[in-house]
Amino acid sequence: MRVIIVGGGIAGLATAWSLQKSGVQVTLLEQGPLPNPQASSVDDHRLIRYPYGPRLGFTRMVGDAYAAWDEMWADLGERHYVETGTLVLGGPADAYNKATVATLAHAGHTVDWLTEAELARDYPLLEEAAIATGGFRMNSGGALRCGRIVQALARHLAFLGADLRPHSPVVDVDPVLAQVTLSDSTRLTADAVVVTAGAWATKLLPALASTLTPSRQVIVYVAPPPETVATWQRMPMLLNIGENNAGFYLVPPIPGTGLKIGDHRFSRTGDPDAPRTATIAEARAVLEQCRGQIRNLDAYRILEPKACFYTVEPHESFVFHQQDKLLAVSACSGHGFKFGSIIGKTAASLVQGQRDLAEVKHWATGV
Ligand SMILES: Cc1cc2nc3c(=O)[nH]c(=O)nc-3n(C[C@H](O)[C@H](O)[C@H](O)COP(=O)(O)OP(=O)(O)OC[C@H]3O[C@@H](n4cnc5c(N)ncnc54)[C@H](O)[C@@H]3O)c2cc1C
Repeated sequence: MRVIIVGGGIAGLATAWSLQKSGVQVTLLEQGPLPNPQASSVDDHRLIRYPYGPRLGFTRMVGDAYAAWDEMWADLGERHYVETGTLVLGGPADAYNKATVATLAHAGHTVDWLTEAELARDYPLLEEAAIATGGFRMNSGGALRCGRIVQALARHLAFLGADLRPHSPVVDVDPVLAQVTLSDSTRLTADAVVVTAGAWATKLLPALASTLTPSRQVIVYVAPPPETVATWQRMPMLLNIGENNAGFYLVPPIPGTGLKIGDHRFSRTGDPDAPRTATIAEARAVLEQCRGQIRNLDAYRILEPKACFYTVEPHESFVFHQQDKLLAVSACSGHGFKFGSIIGKTAASLVQGQRDLAEVKHWATGV
């Protein structure tokens, strides 16, 4: 069997990894360099953690994703994961956290609710207001070093003989013929085409625009006050999510990376091909999300605001759209990297007719 994959982010590369293990001949077309720094999948890190609000399916999927990452590390001979643990801010009175903990319990995970005194003792960088509200801790959760992962996957696939073609923008897909047309008018045909084009998916397949919206997201790297650096290096990831997926997430500095803060809210605007500069004002707005949560916030210096793109699906589900010999996959809504390993395996199974589309679509809702 021969399969063409369009897009070399984590979804495309992990699909290629899984297909190649089954003996499928893979051609992967990437519009830019491979990896492409414009892709969602290329940054220092992406978080993986069990707390997922009331979504039992996603909570369970995290365990499956961890297993698939382990399988990938074994194949790559490299492990690109740093466990930090997870601290979720907000007490048991918070409806979202209450639902999260009930769902975690259903999936077999226990959490440590922390008293005010325990939070003050263990996390002195938190503001009194955050400490008074409460929170819970899990030992699991950490950072997937995403840029290194996609680089290692591309290297591994090339070594095993996959046909990887950077700088090969696809401008058209024919689902019936399983044929793609490149910008230089070259046509390539296979037995199936998988489109994993991230935030560009709706440009190539406009029919997906009814489901997927590109979303420009700003993150900020900050320099904490020097006297707090050593403490930050021992901190878990911080999540302050709450209802409607508002709030912030914070990635503590793991070796070779800085302190990163991101905003859970979706912008649902922007063009992934437009200039990517983010302003200091935008970065400050992200940092302000931490006001009342992190002590002495005004002493944190903005180092690097960054704009990045992903697509948003209204229910934050993943998308598996099959039409004739085309499978379009969107690992979207700002939470797809952690599941990249399992999404690649799932896409590979669908292409090979080993899983049922309706069952996969339900799985992808994370309910
Ligand atoms: C700021 C930010 C923070 C995030 N944090 C987290 C997190 O903590 N945890 C988590 O799990 N997820 C997180 N995510 C989401 C995660 O990064 C994405 O869900 C995931 O990387 C999407 O992977 P992908 O392969 O679908 O898309 P991408 O990585 O964007 O890859 C798509 C690729 O397709 C290529 N392409 C597009 N069109 C064409 C074409 N026509 N021809 C050829 N190639 C094409 C693109 O150049 C690109 O390389 C975050 C995302 C962002 C932006």
